[in-house]
Formats: sequence, structure tokens, C-alpha cells
Amino acid sequence: MRRGEFQIIDRFFTHDAFGEWRSQGVGDDCAIIDMPGNRIAVTTDMMAVGTHFLPGARPEDIGYKALAVNLSDLAAAGASPRAFFLSIGLPERDDEWLAGFSRGLMALAGCALLGGDTTRTAEVGGTHAPVTISITAMGSLPEGKGLTRAGAKPGDDIWVSGTVGDAYAALKHRWGHWQLMPDAAEALFPRMDRPTPRNMLGSALLDLATACADVSDGLLADLGHILERSGVSGSILWEAVPVSSALRALSPAAQQEAALTGGDDYELVFTAPPSAALRIEQAGLLTKTRLTRIGKICEKVSGDNLTVRSQNGGIVTTPTQGFDHFAA
Ligand code: ADP
Ligand code: MG
Repeated sequence: MRRGEFQIIDRFFTHDAFGEWRSQGVGDDCAIIDMPGNRIAVTTDMMAVGTHFLPGARPEDIGYKALAVNLSDLAAAGASPRAFFLSIGLPERDDEWLAGFSRGLMALAGCALLGGDTTRTAEVGGTHAPVTISITAMGSLPEGKGLTRAGAKPGDDIWVSGTVGDAYAALKHRWGHWQLMPDAAEALFPRMDRPTPRNMLGSALLDLATACADVSDGLLADLGHILERSGVSGSILWEAVPVSSALRALSPAAQQEAALTGGDDYELVFTAPPSAALRIEQAGLLTKTRLTRIGKICEKVSGDNLTVRSQNGGIVTTPTQGFDHFAA
């Protein structure tokens, strides 16, 4: 059974399609919509300071990341960013903050801000709620193409880009839960504050990958979405999961928690038949992105549909699968 956030979406926000504009349905990183002569991918993400950003986060980083997470959803669909809309709720007018936010936002853009909305956040008990941001991003796709979470097939390899767990380790350090060495912390902070959306890679995978998602909730959680929507199971080998040298300095348990369940990396996790492996490696070289094969897709099994194995033959278990805003 689906829990938390996803149960809310299933129960209250999943309706039969009507009208002329159709997509593949709720549950993917983007809605892919066909229009005469055009195919577009649309995604929207809402963020709040205090929930998605630490209260003291720099406005530049907030602007940058607010757009980056949306462009990352476009990357997961293989779409090229074309335009975005920005809605922002502010507790007060603070021009210095706004100038920083705007700089960060436009640093990444490469696509046009075409509209939005600006309001004041609600006042409760004499104070206004923190900054809330909602961005809707739109990208283009070649006719008939587009990656979804639904196409993984038994026999496919499971791949992931970059390294995973870095953003989570940086967050744990800032919370004071984990103690990173100063140079490790310096290396990991930009991974949390300035994630790189993998749009070039996403486009390069259009003819190669069978399913794709971005790692926003955690590797196991986002791969889990692919398995669920594709109706398959999968297993990954822990030792194959790409982990940065900064993360390697942590205990094995902390590495596993960060890399397997930590969110916010905005890497791509995708599946592809073994026959595509060489071309995928070439796509990695061409887009200067590290790509690693971490596991295999198999026929659907009942019960837990995702297993993490270790070289020693054991099963790796983690406290949770990943991030959920409304987890019990
Ligand atoms: P992502 O992390 O890739 O942005 P989410 O996990 O936020 O995706 O959402 C999962 C799916 O549910 C997406 O297809 C999204 O469009 C859909 N969804 C989320 N919230 C709502 C909502 N309030 N109404 C309709 N669809 C929603
Ligand atoms: Mg996503």
C-alpha cells in the first residue's frame, strides 16, 4: 500500500482524464503532452524555506535550487528546458534578499521566465509564514519521444549518474548529526546547495533508456517508483553504488543511509537493455557525466520488489526507503 504523500496523491488528486489534452497520467516526473506538431513536458514543484531550505539558506542558493529541481524533472523525461513560471509568497519585502534570489534563479535559467504570481504569505499569530516558492517548468521533446518511469523490462540494467548521498550527508552535517572533516564538508555543500540538473544526459538517453527518474526522494525510493510503474522488480549491488570520496570517509552504515535513502541529489536513475550499454557509456563521455551500472531488473516478485545485495551475499537493509513529506 502507498503511504503518506503518495497516498494523498492517489486518493485525492488522481482523476480520470477528460478534455483534449492528455498525458501519460499522474505519477511521473513530468506530464508529457502532445499538441499538433509539438510534444512538451511540464513539471511543477513547490518549496518552502524551513522545509526544503534551512532557515538561514542564502537567497542565491534558494533561487538556483528552486529552478534546478524543476529542470531535473525535465531531465528525467529527457526534455530540453524552454520556459518556466514562478509563483512566490513572501513574508515581507526584502530587496536584498530578492536580488540574491533573482541572481541565483537566473544563473541557471537558460530558459525564459514567462510569468508567475507574487503574494504575501499568510499571517499566523502575528508573523508571516516563511518564503514559499512554486515553479512550473516546461520543456520540449522530439515527436513521439520522452522518458517515463513506466518502461523498465526484466533483463534491463539499472544505471545511476554521478554519485548519490552527497546532499544528504551535507544536510546531516549542517543539522549537527554527523561530523564531516572540513574538506569533506566543503566538497559536499555545493552538492546540497547547487545541484546540477542532468538535462544533457536526459536528452542523450531518449533513444537508449527504457525508464528514468531523477533522484529527489532517495535512490531506493525513486528506483522504487520506476519498479512500481513498470510492474517489475529489481536488485542492486551495494558495492556498485557510486559514492563520493567525501562520503567514503563515513561509517558504512552512514554511507548506506545517505546513498540509498538520502534525497536531493538530482542525479538520474534509469534502466536500459544490456545491448545499449556501450552507447550509454558514450553518452556519459559526451555529456561528461559519470554513469554506473548498479543492478538488474527482473520479473515482478511478490513482497519487497527491490533488494539491495552485498558482495558478501548478505542483504543490505536501511531504516527507511526515502523521503516522504507525510510519512507517519
Ligand atoms: P517529483 O518528486 O518528481 O517532483 P512527486 O513525487 O512530487 O514528483 O509527485 C509524484 C507524482 O504525483 C507526479 O506525477 C506529480 O505530478 C503528481 N502530483 C503530486 N502532487 C499532486 C497534486 N496535488 N495534484 C496532482 N498531481 C500531483
Ligand atoms: Mg522527479
